[in-house]
Amino acid sequence: MVSAGDVVFDSMGIHLPAESGQLLSLIARHGAVSRSELERLSGSSRTTIVQRLGVLFAANLIRETEETQPTGGRPSRLLKLNEDFALIIAVDIGESLTRVALTDLSPKIVAEAVFPTNLDNSPASVLSEITACSDRLLAQVGRPINQVIGIGLCLPSRIDYRNARVFGPSVMHGWDGFDIRGWFLDRFQTKVFADNDVNLMALAEYKNYWPNEDYFFFIKAGTGIGGGIVIRGEVYRGGKGTAGDIGHIQLDFPNPPLCRCGKLGCLEAYSGGWAIARDLRAKGIEANNSRDVINLVKRNVPEAIQLLRVAGKGFGEVAANVVSVLNPNLIVLGGTLAEADEHLMVGIRELVNQRCLPLATQTLEIVKARTGDRAGILGAAQLVINEQLVGLGSQHPD
Ligand SMILES: [Zn+2]
Repeated sequence: MVSAGDVVFDSMGIHLPAESGQLLSLIARHGAVSRSELERLSGSSRTTIVQRLGVLFAANLIRETEETQPTGGRPSRLLKLNEDFALIIAVDIGESLTRVALTDLSPKIVAEAVFPTNLDNSPASVLSEITACSDRLLAQVGRPINQVIGIGLCLPSRIDYRNARVFGPSVMHGWDGFDIRGWFLDRFQTKVFADNDVNLMALAEYKNYWPNEDYFFFIKAGTGIGGGIVIRGEVYRGGKGTAGDIGHIQLDFPNPPLCRCGKLGCLEAYSGGWAIARDLRAKGIEANNSRDVINLVKRNVPEAIQLLRVAGKGFGEVAANVVSVLNPNLIVLGGTLAEADEHLMVGIRELVNQRCLPLATQTLEIVKARTGDRAGILGAAQLVINEQLVGLGSQHPD
């Protein structure tokens, strides 16, 4: 436990007077901000701001940056979170690889390890490997566990977000209902947050490249398909956490194929990497997943290119509906299939422009994701920041 004046940092997070908490939340949300922006955002007077900032400075929670803002008088330095105040343990359990990292509060990776995932093993065995790895990384950077402000987990499954539990069916057999949070609490005494990979990839992409885009929609086009919605910097999950799950929206095409979920004609059954691979095999071309499909496209195999263009129309159908309901300013396409660039984008742009109102499409951008392999882990770290710092003073899971 670390305590400085009115501020206490213990295993459950940072505790401080509500007014200073509100200010810290604004700084965590907006990045580098000036004192006058804080006055405007909080509605408090300069004197009050200065006094509350004093509490945050004394606890070493914030610092001045080198950046200044002209004020008319003496230029004023911008304020930001002290990124070294605490560490985050971020974990990305992929179907084939697990990545464990310590990050600062930027979030920037300060230590990292990658090892193969075996989801046939029990949850306890997979999580034991992760805690052992986290211990090694903490020893490596020479910092104790009580400097960790939270654990963020990125999982390839639907998640009951409030309870941090896997909600199947998914590739995580045997994890349904497993008490991940309780398991970690017995060992690390810190808060645990878990979300699905698509939401966290969306969050990382938003934070890294589009932090000023308030209405943001992310499509993961991989072997499976999913969507993530980020509204004003927060993941929008809906009532039970399934918002944005576009892979199983059914398309009204003739002869609908069978989906992995057991229904007929889902988007995934036309446009997912596994479905394109299925259609390639029917043409006598060997392919099993989205990586194989993309390798064929990169080798200019005409059947693969043609199937990807058709898949793009499936994405376009669903994206047009998303635009009608959500009116995002930006759609970002990530996942392995996004590497096909224009072969996939053309169909999406065409259908969205055809179907949606001009007011919704005139400034809408549809672009490819840029965060890369570390999107899941950076999203998991950002999730902890959102819950433990941006969320100060508002409601979040216990
Ligand atoms: Zn389905």
